[in-house]
Amino acid sequence: MKAKLLEGKLLGDRIKEELKKEIERLSSSPTLAAVQVGDNFATEIYLKAQKKTAEGLGINYRLFKLKTTASERELMGLIEELNQDSSIQGIIVQMPLPPQIERQKIIKGVSVLKDVEGMHPENLGYIILGKPRFLPCTAEAVFELVKSTNINLYGKEVVIVGHSEIVGKPLSLIFLNEFSTVTVCHIGTSEAGHLEEHVKRAEILIVAVGKAGLIKGDWIKEEAIVIDVGINKLGDKIVGDVEFAGASERASFITPVPGGVGPLTVTMLMRNLIKAAKLQQIKEDEF
Ligand code: NDP
Repeated sequence: MKAKLLEGKLLGDRIKEELKKEIERLSSSPTLAAVQVGDNFATEIYLKAQKKTAEGLGINYRLFKLKTTASERELMGLIEELNQDSSIQGIIVQMPLPPQIERQKIIKGVSVLKDVEGMHPENLGYIILGKPRFLPCTAEAVFELVKSTNINLYGKEVVIVGHSEIVGKPLSLIFLNEFSTVTVCHIGTSEAGHLEEHVKRAEILIVAVGKAGLIKGDWIKEEAIVIDVGINKLGDKIVGDVEFAGASERASFITPVPGGVGPLTVTMLMRNLIKAAKLQQIKEDEF
């Protein structure tokens, strides 16, 4: 294998050491409120990872659980309480939500200063202005992994496959803010038969689709940086969206799946929480 592995855990461990020092400088340990509606296997795994990472950093972690049948009003009521509670600095609402609850309404209900997932429209808007307050955690994890290669982003061909609100769209703006040349591909690109030609140009390729083997190994440009966000179950194995064996013979850096973006996402959540705690402190000091 030619490519160097970009392992999220290793980078996450380095960032966590910095976060521990930042927490020591805060007047008290910050508290993250996790809100869960109903049960979901994938959510349970994510919650466990959040709790473990929080505890390892000395962050207080509080889980608020509602029944699957909870109404939108009930959930909004809980979020409003958490918004007002000055002992809580960050709120994460676990997705997906049951069908009776409108996702966007809930995202908009979280206080902009406690929105540690960076999903509130106001916080997304700050990315357009080039002055992000909180970046969505997965997008931020991808950006950290790319930065860890020390590549100069100016003028680089960045190709992003997938245009979701949490990954592709914010990443397109993040790289645009660095003066990279950004191409965003989606289902329309594939259906028009243009995916391969765009991927072949990528000096930095980011794939967040959720389809195993979508990106063929021989499409990868020599020396490209490949970040595979996709998580797919193939038999009893977890794989990404990129054919790893072929891609890793051409790329200079590549993320493994699992072990690439995933482990860093939770660390980014904690970094946003610490930022939230600082922002709220400044706000209190103003009054
Ligand atoms: P979404 O389903 O929201 O988005 C998938 C995107 O892929 C859409 O923009 C869709 O376009 C596009 N797409 C679908 N089919 C094709 C195709 N054939 N060619 C090109 N584009 C296509 O997913 P998410 O962004 O939430 O997640 C993407 C993947 O990343 C999933 O596997 C998910 O599990 C994983 N993930 C991993 C995380 C981590 O921490 N490692 C965190 C979040 C997600 P359109 O909308 O036009 O159909």
